[in-house]
Amino acid sequence: MATMIAARVHKQHAPMQLDRIPIPEPRSTDVLVEVKACGIVPNLARVIANVYANQSPAPRLLPPLPAIFGLDPTGVIAKVGDQVRSVRPGDRVYVNPARKCGSCRMCRSGRPLDCPNFTFQGYFGRSQEIMKAYPYGGLCQFITAPEDALVKLPDNVSFEVAARFGYLGTAYAAMRTLGVGPGQTFLVNGVSGMLGLNAVMLALAMGATKILGTGRNRTLLDRVKALSPRRIEVYAVDESVPVGPADPLVAWAKSMTEGYGVDSSLDCLPPGASADAFMRPLFTLRRGGRAATVGGVRETVSLNAFWLMTNRIGLQGSVWFTTGEGQDMAAMVAAGTLDASPLEHRIFPLSQVNDAMAALNDRNGGFTNFIVDPTRAE
Ligand SMILES: [Zn+2]
Repeated sequence: MATMIAARVHKQHAPMQLDRIPIPEPRSTDVLVEVKACGIVPNLARVIANVYANQSPAPRLLPPLPAIFGLDPTGVIAKVGDQVRSVRPGDRVYVNPARKCGSCRMCRSGRPLDCPNFTFQGYFGRSQEIMKAYPYGGLCQFITAPEDALVKLPDNVSFEVAARFGYLGTAYAAMRTLGVGPGQTFLVNGVSGMLGLNAVMLALAMGATKILGTGRNRTLLDRVKALSPRRIEVYAVDESVPVGPADPLVAWAKSMTEGYGVDSSLDCLPPGASADAFMRPLFTLRRGGRAATVGGVRETVSLNAFWLMTNRIGLQGSVWFTTGEGQDMAAMVAAGTLDASPLEHRIFPLSQVNDAMAALNDRNGGFTNFIVDPTRAE
């Protein structure tokens, strides 16, 4: 039997272990992908440590141990199931890890992200059955995936850039609901982080007229502004100032928008950020403005409902993106409208996966793109 190397978590707080296991056979409507690059996210170590300790609110489940993690795999199709018709061995792909049940009311109406059993292959989710059906995260050499989860990659889209689609797509799906585009002013809260930087790159690609960004690290803020000095403005938040309409951030945002306030904002703050930090940019919204969050703030936010109503403010959460939205991003990168060149790839062989995990906290904000290369396993 053909075998491969997989990095597996055997127990909480223990390093991943390189194991030799059988290469799986794809089922009828699945494909087998040889992984060339897998993105890893700073949240992975926290998820493994906390969720196996049951410190996370239900219903977030982790795959049974030993588990293969890895959220953003890209690679080449090695084999297809006997019912797969439109992709073939040799195709370069990004595997969207979003799994759904396929037959609930939401799935049947084409809304997979709203499936009550929504589960990430190689990460965490809401269904143990789905995790058992797709137990291969990207930190191994071959994975099976459903045929409808594949984003085909044009030749000029590198595996390293595609391995960033998780963050890019998460921002993109939320930004589509916000209507970010020509004529619009868009604010990114937490602009220099992994999600925030990607939101700025996408806003440039989607034609937003002015892009405002808030953050704390002056050096990183300046690097973000340098991506397009004419369209991007950045603001270093003063956390000693009370949150509300009198915050100088609000006056600054209005000065950039002919006095109106911004059309939309996206929260990209990391886990551990405060409710105040989440609330602060909401007051920069114009009347009728809309905010979305893809960030990790866990604190309870106290919002004045009357203020929401009288100012016609919209606020919504967003998680992940569809495979179609992933295909949009591949097309944008291929056409050059989405410039991925700000990303600095840090590539680790699979044999150094634990070093890669340890290196995640040492990064140039969102500019660093952490990649594990499973073709180098030994
Ligand atoms: Zn479903």
